[in-house]
Amino acid sequence: MEEQGLLIVLSGPSGVGKGTVRKHLFEHYNNDFDFSISMTTRQQRVGEVEGEDYFFRTKEQFEEYIKEGRLLEYAHYVGNYYGTPIDYVRETMAKGIDVFLEIEVQGALEVKKRMPEGIFIFLSPPDLDELKSRIENRGTDLPDVINQRMDKAREELQLIKYYDYVVENDSVDAAARKIRSIIESEHLKVERNIERFTKIIQEMM
Ligand code: 5GP
Repeated sequence: MEEQGLLIVLSGPSGVGKGTVRKHLFEHYNNDFDFSISMTTRQQRVGEVEGEDYFFRTKEQFEEYIKEGRLLEYAHYVGNYYGTPIDYVRETMAKGIDVFLEIEVQGALEVKKRMPEGIFIFLSPPDLDELKSRIENRGTDLPDVINQRMDKAREELQLIKYYDYVVENDSVDAAARKIRSIIESEHLKVERNIERFTKIIQEMM
């Protein structure tokens, strides 16, 4: 039987740079894992592509997904829904391919309840001032949304203790490299290789 792929969850406060680090990781590190595209009810931003950045859906369509149990997790975040379609995650992992989620903290904790075997990585900002200037510089949010995102970030930082790893995003490349190393190390864990080695040892006997 094919070995299951790993579930890798990258999370952390909005504006910390999860999207940038994730894109850098996929573009520069020749990855063999797949990105799970989320569904959202928020407005498409300029430059975003349907089915690449998100599946943009109406509130009614999203709620239909919730009702049908087709989301691994979802969160109501700053006035909009965000969620992870479950079929893609299950099917990809079953093929032996790692799946990479980039989601906010509440959703990550939901995933942890359902799939505790996942690898949970918290991307942290160097400090809160830096986080605020990143959100402001992005220029996509109105001031009260920026304040809501900052309040949320303060709450989210307290949840770091539920994660397996913390990576500080002081440089995009360094953060991406660290995430890559975490995934490589996870694949090398004895518990993930014991079956293969037990067979080798038996054959040697
Ligand atoms: P943005 O509006 O900036 O694209 O995303 C807002 C927040 O929602 C970010 O922290 C992003 O990582 C998170 N997010 C994106 N997709 C999902 C998802 O499927 N589930 C959850 N829980 N959060 C998500």
